[in-house]
Amino acid sequence: MPYSVSKRLPGEHASKLGHLEVLRSPLVQQLVQNFEQPDVSVGADRIDWQPMPPRGQQLDLIFGVDGSIQVIEDERPPHKALAFVKTALMRIDQVALSRIDKETPHPFALRDLMSDSALYHATIFPLRHVQVPGLSVYNAVRQIIFESVQDKSLDREPMETLKWLAYEKWSGVKKQLPAFQCPHCESDQATLPYDTERGTCPRCGAELFITDMMGFHLDMAEEAASDSVATAYMNIHETLLLFTGIRYFWETNSEILKRCLFVKDGPLQIRAQYSKLVNPIRRFLIHALHRGISICIIGQELDFGQIMMNSRLIPAGKTG
Ligand SMILES: [Zn+2]
Repeated sequence: MPYSVSKRLPGEHASKLGHLEVLRSPLVQQLVQNFEQPDVSVGADRIDWQPMPPRGQQLDLIFGVDGSIQVIEDERPPHKALAFVKTALMRIDQVALSRIDKETPHPFALRDLMSDSALYHATIFPLRHVQVPGLSVYNAVRQIIFESVQDKSLDREPMETLKWLAYEKWSGVKKQLPAFQCPHCESDQATLPYDTERGTCPRCGAELFITDMMGFHLDMAEEAASDSVATAYMNIHETLLLFTGIRYFWETNSEILKRCLFVKDGPLQIRAQYSKLVNPIRRFLIHALHRGISICIIGQELDFGQIMMNSRLIPAGKTG
């Protein structure tokens, strides 16, 4: 909308042509030009690239982890909203895959291949205006996160992996959970004794779940949860599935890890309050490296503009 004449400013014409003036500015032209030309080398000089060893260990055991999220919102007031989250860890069986017709793969053949080599997980969150008797949305989502990580159909393996990472059980040192914010009294000194999954806040005495350490409650109000809670859950659960594979080999035959490549769809980054697992993961990767085992994890990010795969290999010991 044009502004009218005042003592300090002349009147403005409501014309798109007025915008052309600004395009004559050399600075603006330079900005427009830079905006239109994608710079493929953005940040490349700041990445501490490591050369690939000329003849390294072949990574012939490949595992992929992926997830999906769907938020369903009722168009009618009060706009009830639920989020469905699915994740899966799949072993990519290259021999079985090579037997499948690459031009026209039979869907049943793909289904059979996947059912033999994948772990699936699914859960659902009430985000807004969906009643769980006796519980606020805040506490219902906290409880669902806790119970979902225990997933009995996966023999509680993701929960065991969460404890393995959070308590750094691989280190052999029995320590309590690093301090986190209590979801009830907001004390920053909430913790749980070694290897426990639930307990009470040392300050207010209310019930704590191990999953509270990741701070999902910081994205929730009493009767509403942000969509980002479900997205963060999916991301964390993908990471737990991926590390379930790593933990399995670490505890049974760690030498096999030298042949494994773990691929996560999307960035490896865990953001904001959910980053509580990042330091334990880094310490584990360094610990593994000191024992002569490099653990190869890739986060695959697709840039649709350039249709290129921008994968970042994070060798053990790197903190990038
Ligand atoms: Zn408390």
